[in-house]
Amino acid sequence: MNPLDTILSVTNLNKRYGALQALKNVSFEIKKGNVYGILGPNGSGKSTTLGIALNVVNKTSGDYKWFSGTMETHEALKKVGAIIERPNFYPYMTAKENLELVCKIKGISYVKVSEKLELVGLTDRQNSKFSTFSLGMKQRLAIASALLNDPEILILDEPTNGLDPQGIHQIRDIIKQIAAMGTTILLASHLLDEVEKVCTHVLVLRKGTILYSGLVDGMSANNVFFELQSDDNETLIAALKTHAAVKNIAIEQGKVLAYLQENLEAKDLNKFLFEKNIVLNHLVKRKNSLEEQFLELTNGK
Ligand code: ADP
Ligand code: MG
Repeated sequence: MNPLDTILSVTNLNKRYGALQALKNVSFEIKKGNVYGILGPNGSGKSTTLGIALNVVNKTSGDYKWFSGTMETHEALKKVGAIIERPNFYPYMTAKENLELVCKIKGISYVKVSEKLELVGLTDRQNSKFSTFSLGMKQRLAIASALLNDPEILILDEPTNGLDPQGIHQIRDIIKQIAAMGTTILLASHLLDEVEKVCTHVLVLRKGTILYSGLVDGMSANNVFFELQSDDNETLIAALKTHAAVKNIAIEQGKVLAYLQENLEAKDLNKFLFEKNIVLNHLVKRKNSLEEQFLELTNGK
């Protein structure tokens, strides 16, 4: 892969706020064209991670590099569109005037204003004062503003917080549209279903530690298991241990759970066991839902 396809790489990032260690050896890579979600409960370090990458929070140790280190951070950040705070514009200016002001400050052509207003569905309201906007409209205006210079990556911190269901739906649709146009996206969210609906990749963060990073789909792929029962579970377990596809075995409420490391059809497992003289009285193939896995990953431990 072309090194320029790496938009951001973070290596062993640590952050302390006094005695509190907010990030512990956080490492990840953001590649061009994907949609990443940093998923974790409140206080897990999502905003801190984004703040450090955007140079508004100081790191304690570790490193991060934009665009494979081909440019200085402040130059690189000109190619980054970010919304990490509540949207804030001039209340008595219209949506259009506010965006034109941003263009003027950043040296961007005014033609971008109507294009981005259209993208976020605010064309009809472009001449309304910002103070008359709902929170959802304010958030959409903030997205339009962050996109004015056609950034390489859009960063959003909890983009749907505080919105009503319709507002949430609109924002998620817009994010998907922006992604479909090829813009890389990194968003932080404590909502599993948001990440599941919008993102291709996920970093699961808990108490400042990354518990999982990879494809959203991959999170469930390695979580297929069989629920089994026979009159003699000990013999059953011994047989399962000899099967190459079985990764590990657990017992739950009298049922034997066989977790897989590669695909295995129910009928093939059944045949394998039957040939070893094991007759099952229960055989179900199951998959942990993303929600179960997320809870498993973020609870306890
Ligand atoms: P998240 O965005 O996932 O909710 P944060 O990155 O905001 O998490 O916070 C991570 C941890 O760091 C939390 O325990 C939070 O209380 C703490 N924290 C965040 N910002 C500060 C700060 N400025 N001073 C002290 N502690 C902070
Ligand atoms: Mg936060």
